[in-house]
Amino acid sequence: MNADAIIIGAGACGLMCAVQAGYLGKKVIVLEKNEKPGAKILISGGGRCNYTNQYASPEQFISANPHFLKSSFTQWTVDDTISFFETYGIQGKEKTLGQLFPDEKNARDVVQVFTSVCEDFGQEIRCNADVKDIEILPDGFRVTYEKNGKKIVLKSEKLVMATGGLPIPKMGATDFALRFARKHDLKIVETAPALVPLTITGKDEEWFAQLSGNSVFCEVSNNEIAFEENILFTHWGLSGPAILQISTFWRRGEVVNINLLPHHDIVAVLDEERKINGKTLLSTLLNRFYTKKFTDALGKFLPLIKPVAALTNAELQLIKQTIHEFKVKPAGDKGYDKAEVMRGGIDTNEISSKTMECKKIPGLFFGGECLDVTGWLGGYNFQWAWASGFVIAQNI
Ligand SMILES: Cc1cc2nc3c(=O)[nH]c(=O)nc-3n(C[C@H](O)[C@H](O)[C@H](O)COP(=O)(O)OP(=O)(O)OC[C@H]3O[C@@H](n4cnc5c(N)ncnc54)[C@H](O)[C@@H]3O)c2cc1C
Repeated sequence: MNADAIIIGAGACGLMCAVQAGYLGKKVIVLEKNEKPGAKILISGGGRCNYTNQYASPEQFISANPHFLKSSFTQWTVDDTISFFETYGIQGKEKTLGQLFPDEKNARDVVQVFTSVCEDFGQEIRCNADVKDIEILPDGFRVTYEKNGKKIVLKSEKLVMATGGLPIPKMGATDFALRFARKHDLKIVETAPALVPLTITGKDEEWFAQLSGNSVFCEVSNNEIAFEENILFTHWGLSGPAILQISTFWRRGEVVNINLLPHHDIVAVLDEERKINGKTLLSTLLNRFYTKKFTDALGKFLPLIKPVAALTNAELQLIKQTIHEFKVKPAGDKGYDKAEVMRGGIDTNEISSKTMECKKIPGLFFGGECLDVTGWLGGYNFQWAWASGFVIAQNI
């Protein structure tokens, strides 16, 4: 075969790897089981693709080895991502919190950059190519894939595993990399859905369900970390950016703390109002911060129709707890069908952080989401996929 490497997976990591290999004059063949490349890029950021984050650094990633991605992030920086896309006509526009989206373009344009540059370099992307088996040979790899019911075998000296994580199986996600790892005794850090909505069942279910469609700006925290963004109520529980963020750090059985009014002290606000107009009803005051629907729902816990001047100390304490220390015990999460990423993955101790080559299997490289590197919500996961793809391209 006339290629320097086979890349399995035409997702973010595999596509960046193919393009970067092209710059270096290396020829690759990309095998993709879907009909088209870049399925997850296409649905990312609601079809707009939050392709990086201006503030991306190792701190916004979770991994058993937090130092692992430092080398990749030095070799391929956020500025590199920004200039790469600018070269192909995609300017970044910040939406919020450093999240960059293509300005006046969308996820389709992002995928188009990769497919057209691959074409320019003669990098072949074979779609509908479902890789079934990898055999390790003394001088490389024998890769067997199925296309239109036929088995096809390719051989190459170098192999790149860029098969992604488990979320959204209907979009092509497979456990191919994890199965390979188990078969070859590569350690795996336990996997779980991450950046995923959380479900509420039991006696609280109805209270949350009545608010379905409402969102509130909150600080959501657990013992490890806190995020300030919106939470969204749904008929089955909680979603929205702040919930997706905390979900990565949440473990079954744990309580999530929600401050429903960050940047304010509700007791101080009430004290002030008592001085100005003690007759103001608690509901009227809360309506300044929340929708009427949300204030009404708080009536389950609070004496809404009491004038603020008449509130007892015990009631003030209750208001403080409800507003600033609201506690939720999710029943579970919405699973891989709704998760944006996978937590855990192939243990990074199995991989060289400088080259992304597997220590036990020379010539084999892993990148992107199949490894135990999970970013926060906000463009961080793509930055990791691009960076690892770049590093692999330098070393195949
Ligand atoms: C709904 C949603 C929205 C998201 N939005 C964002 C966002 O805006 N910003 C951000 O940073 N991240 C976002 N993410 C996360 C981001 O999409 C992933 O982190 C990123 O795509 C991982 O890149 P990857 O190359 O490792 O894997 P993928 O992009 O998943 O690519 C892996 C590819 O391998 C193929 N494959 C798997 N097994 C085989 C096999 N056996 N044979 C052949 N091919 C195979 C798959 O079909 C897939 O195309 C989002 C994820 C989801 C689900």
